Amino acid sequence: MAYQVIRRGQITKREEDNRLTLERKLLVRWYGLELNRDKCIGCGICADQCPKEAIEHFPAEFKGIKALTRPSIDFDTEKCILCGECVSLCPLDALQMIIEKEEKVPVIEANVFATVTRKRW
Ligand code: SF4
Ligand code: SF4
Repeated sequence: MAYQVIRRGQITKREEDNRLTLERKLLVRWYGLELNRDKCIGCGICADQCPKEAIEHFPAEFKGIKALTRPSIDFDTEKCILCGECVSLCPLDALQMIIEKEEKVPVIEANVFATVTRKRW
C-alpha cells in the first residue's frame, strides 16, 4: 500500500458525493472549505475574485449547440490560503467554510474583505 506524506498545515483535497472538500488539519484547529457541486452553476465569480488565483474555472464544452459538460471549478491546494473570500462571494451559497465545527468566514470575521477586483468588465 502506498502512503502519502502530508506536511503540517498542508491543504488536502477530497471529492465524494458531489462535494469537493479542502481541509487543513493543524494541531489545535481544523479548517475546511467545501464546494457543493449540486448547487454550483460554474459561473466563475469565485475564480475571478480569488486573491490567490487558486480557483480554476472550466467553461462548458459544446458540440454544436449541445452542451457536453457543465461549467465547473476546481481548487489549487498549493495556492489557496482558506481566506473564505470565495465563500462570501458565491451567489448560490455553494461554498461553505468550517473552522472547528463552526461555519465561519475568515475575511468576514477579520473585517478585511477585499474590494479590489482583477477583472474589468
Ligand atoms: S461563485 Fe459559486 S456558483 Fe459560481 S462557480 Fe463559484 S462556487 Fe460555483
Ligand atoms: S479560500 Fe481564499 S484563497 Fe482559497 S479559493 Fe477561496 S478565495 Fe481563493
